[in-house]
Amino acid sequence: MPMPTPPSCPACPDSRPLWKDVTQITERMPDNWFWYCANCERFWRPSAEHKEVFTHGPPGGSSGSVRRDPRVPRD
Ligand SMILES: [Zn+2]
Repeated sequence: MPMPTPPSCPACPDSRPLWKDVTQITERMPDNWFWYCANCERFWRPSAEHKEVFTHGPPGGSSGSVRRDPRVPRD
């Protein structure tokens, strides 16, 4: 499954893709992560859509059966 492309930094003119900082993720809070820009060293709060896609993977699937277990980390 290809990972969706991270968003680019809204503050940097060259629009680099953001890093996903997962250091704050806990077992009870699997979506407690942030976007991080290595260029301006700022953290950005992901949107609800980003949280959905980048925490659990892109919605849908060719087989029709979508497995979503928030307890299982995916990279
Ligand atoms: Zn930036």
